[in-house]
Amino acid sequence: MVAPIYYYSTNRQFSNQSSGDFERISFQEALFQGQAQDEGLFMPDRIPKVSPEELRQLPHMRYPEIASLVLGKFLRPEISASVLSQLAREAYTFEIAIESLGEKRYLMRLDQGPTASFKDFAAQMLARLMGYFNRNGNYLNLLVATSGDTGSAIGRAFQGIPGIFVYILYPRQEVSPKQEAQLTSINGNVRAVSVDGKFDDCQKMVKSAFLDPELRLFHLTSGNSINIGRLLPQMVYYFYAYSRLAKYEEKVIFSIPSGNFGNAIGCEIAYRMGLPVEKIIIATNENDEFPGFLQNGRYEKISPSRRCLSNSMNVGHPSNLGRLFDLYGGNVDKDGYVHRNPDRTAMRRHIFGVGISDSETIDTMVRIWREKKVILEPHGAVAFAGLESFREQEGEPDLPQIVLETAHPGKFSEVLQEYLGVTPEMPESLKHLQLKNHYIVLPNEYRIFKEYLFENLKR
Ligand SMILES: *Cc1c(COP(=O)(O)O)cnc(C)c1O
Repeated sequence: MVAPIYYYSTNRQFSNQSSGDFERISFQEALFQGQAQDEGLFMPDRIPKVSPEELRQLPHMRYPEIASLVLGKFLRPEISASVLSQLAREAYTFEIAIESLGEKRYLMRLDQGPTASFKDFAAQMLARLMGYFNRNGNYLNLLVATSGDTGSAIGRAFQGIPGIFVYILYPRQEVSPKQEAQLTSINGNVRAVSVDGKFDDCQKMVKSAFLDPELRLFHLTSGNSINIGRLLPQMVYYFYAYSRLAKYEEKVIFSIPSGNFGNAIGCEIAYRMGLPVEKIIIATNENDEFPGFLQNGRYEKISPSRRCLSNSMNVGHPSNLGRLFDLYGGNVDKDGYVHRNPDRTAMRRHIFGVGISDSETIDTMVRIWREKKVILEPHGAVAFAGLESFREQEGEPDLPQIVLETAHPGKFSEVLQEYLGVTPEMPESLKHLQLKNHYIVLPNEYRIFKEYLFENLKR
């Protein structure tokens, strides 16, 4: 039997006294802690491999089967193979469309889930894993800060999961009407909290709550992408795309529209497991602090973050960057301060970073629509423009190049109407949305949020 995998914090500051080594904990503990107490991020202490034989089997497997194969390597023996495949079958009931764009370029649409963004892939599995590990019936309180897509995906996924109560903080003025309607139409064990502030304020309140010793008596955990339980499911669709597009022993290239880098790190871990990935393109919008670092070696977070059309990527310091640095031997803290530089040469060999401006994003959407009659929304357009920039600089590779479309164009109908003059078809999940009154309003003040938590949290 293979040894189980344990999880350590990227800050390695909570040491195990007897051995002098830094502490490692089980997946279940890492899942429920969310963020490590030393403010680092949990990472697996070993990256398991997929065998060539397993890679050869993938084309014959359906998505839930691939998910349980890949995730099982990180979660067993804590969770049995039969339970995991049951959870994966329940989580992944929707389609993944792959469209050809010519010249070996493909678009993988990760927008067919219940809330029409790729966040559903992680949220659906996270909810089921937490529900499973919480089966002894404890009360658990999940806090989430959202700029839109995360909140609705998490809210939907956790609705009706026994014992788990979810609080979703969103910035009232920054979410779109459709996003707000999605957030406020969830009820029961899920509560939308409309905050008089910006996304950064919501995130700050949630972080303060996690670090507040007076709130320790409640079981608090995070649903944001710092949670390892959200990160791991984001490896699976890379295996899926590979199995559907690559010939035997062929490598592939992925272009990933990135904000907090959870998605890109899923790809990096898949590569380290043995998935034949030639290059990972990390495409950001004008919040291009990481592409800048790859270029010149100086990391400067962007504060406040720049507001771009691809609003789910308006992040001036990616919360998962600590994981990427850690994988390359570096350390950066949550405030963006670099304590140890990663091996930038190795990073650049494998990762191509590029920032795409809003005007390039619009040009790309317009061009793809005119030339191919394919509708991209702004996030997917950033990824496509990122691939184009890669091809200009490094030549056109004779390999499958896969662009991730992370949101449904129907979520951006106003933008697409304005620039393309088309109204995208709405997915079922967005068709009948109405603003409901299932939400509470709070000022941007931690003290009041804390009072609210004391009155409402279950213990
Ligand atoms: C969250 C999100 C992203 C960015 O993903 P990260 O994992 O944070 O890099 C991109 N596109 C859409 C539509 C999103 O909702």
